Amino acid sequence: MGEDVERILGRDAQRMNILAGRAVAEIVRSTLGPKGMDKMLVDSLGDIVVTGDGVTILKEMEIGHPAAKMVVEVAKVQEDEVGDGTTTSVVLTGAMLQKAEDLLNQQIHPAVIVNGYRLASEKALKILADLATDVKTGDDTVLKNVAKTSMKGRITESESEKLAGIVVSAVRKVSVTEGKSIKVDIDDIKVEKKSGGSLENTELIEGIVIDKERVHAGMPKSITKAKIALVNAAFEIEKTETEAEIRITSPDQLQAFMKQEENMLKDMVEKVMKSGANVLICQKGIDDLAQHYLAKAGVFAIRRVKESDMTKLSKATGARVASTISDLSEKDIGYSAQVEEMKIGGEAMTFVRGCKDPKAVTILIRGGTQHIIDEADRSLSDTIKVVGAAVESGKVVAGGGSPEIEVSLGLKKYAATVGGREQLAIEAFAGAMEIIPRSLAENGGLDPIDLLVKLKASHDKGQKSSGINVMEGTVSDMFKIGVIEPLKVKTQAIKSASEAAMMILKIDDVIAAGNLGGAGGMGGGAGGMPPMPDM
Ligand code: ADP
Ligand code: MG
Repeated sequence: MGEDVERILGRDAQRMNILAGRAVAEIVRSTLGPKGMDKMLVDSLGDIVVTGDGVTILKEMEIGHPAAKMVVEVAKVQEDEVGDGTTTSVVLTGAMLQKAEDLLNQQIHPAVIVNGYRLASEKALKILADLATDVKTGDDTVLKNVAKTSMKGRITESESEKLAGIVVSAVRKVSVTEGKSIKVDIDDIKVEKKSGGSLENTELIEGIVIDKERVHAGMPKSITKAKIALVNAAFEIEKTETEAEIRITSPDQLQAFMKQEENMLKDMVEKVMKSGANVLICQKGIDDLAQHYLAKAGVFAIRRVKESDMTKLSKATGARVASTISDLSEKDIGYSAQVEEMKIGGEAMTFVRGCKDPKAVTILIRGGTQHIIDEADRSLSDTIKVVGAAVESGKVVAGGGSPEIEVSLGLKKYAATVGGREQLAIEAFAGAMEIIPRSLAENGGLDPIDLLVKLKASHDKGQKSSGINVMEGTVSDMFKIGVIEPLKVKTQAIKSASEAAMMILKIDDVIAAGNLGGAGGMGGGAGGMPPMPDM
């Protein structure tokens, strides 16, 4: 091996990796739950982000240590898969690593721990599946609570009530039944944001909002009972591709030439009129002269609309996108109650609203400052995913640490049936699950020991949805106080946390080109991690 290769072996490698993984978890642990703290992140240019969102924090931190990176990856997967539970998944990974460390100290072989963790993780998923309750697409109260539980941040109760309602309606509109299952493609929900007004002015549009104004001031500003043509072709005369020169030798010839162009554009506009459309939405350009003819005919037209918006418009209005103008016919036309140009936050936008049974909709976020609407955008996009996950799988669980305690108690019973050394690993896994209710209590400024005892006692008595009521400082039924999450948030967190923990435990040799960042492999290499507290 070359000289600049660093190698760490065996127990040292494990110790270093576990330490790095746990450090990542410790960074985000204080943000967990509705009373969690925020982090202020300052990048090298001095730009500031203040957030309590686990994955945002870790993405911004540029963590360098390889094992720490594996833990950050857990948060990213969680975000991609379900949009929520990122902090939970990372905190669980940290706790699993810590418990594994205890076992390693008792001379238990990593392979045994990995085996036990695998058994525990599989069993945990079964316990959660049994615990979950059904939710129907029409179940407004439950779905709104799912939205509100996920929507943490600096928003008031009435704002979160309003936004939750909007998200639930939006998800319901775009959900489609395929055989026995329900599919929600969150791309069918367009999120537009414009500063001005307040969060309370955020609205759901049963149709699509496009960041464009009508092409000609002579066109009507608003059209009711809109008949909409979607065209992916230019209303322009094609410029000759080759270098061919057209020699015009007399004024007559010029006249004739221009007349011909005029007629061609007129024909294009007539095609639109023939289809019955009074609104033209064009993916390409519209020539000035064509604009003039369209305006004269009383058509509302916008141009250079993004392809993704064309797709959504098609889903919302039922129109088919015509790829040539000559193709356009009556059966391609879509409908909406109204198409209107409106000034929002000083900018003209086109609202296609009042679509009948739209399969794509828009949420228009309003808010006092750019900071507020950006934060609302992040939060709403995650909430849309979360509600989508609840609708698709049709399963939810109570939150507030209740499912984690159910899993923990179930695993302890299961461990006894497995026996041997794996039993210890399964028990360790069970113990790691307690980190969630414990952290919720701690972050709420509550006594974690007292509350955990009460919580376990309640579950022992069969109160499966008892959790930490962070707001009141008590143990309460989480369904009753509306703290509800999709089953998928919990299963995904356990799956990816245990996979990452197992992957880290299986490493007994770290061979690095260059430097891992000092003796323990921490320090600079791990991006300036804080010292490890004893959990
Ligand atoms: P994550 O990134 O893991 O979603 P959060 O900071 O959003 O982290 O915290 C999620 C945890 O907080 C979940 O366990 C959830 O059940 C719990 N939680 C959310 N709202 C409440 C509440 N009002 N009372 C108790 N627990 C809550
Ligand atoms: Mg969350």
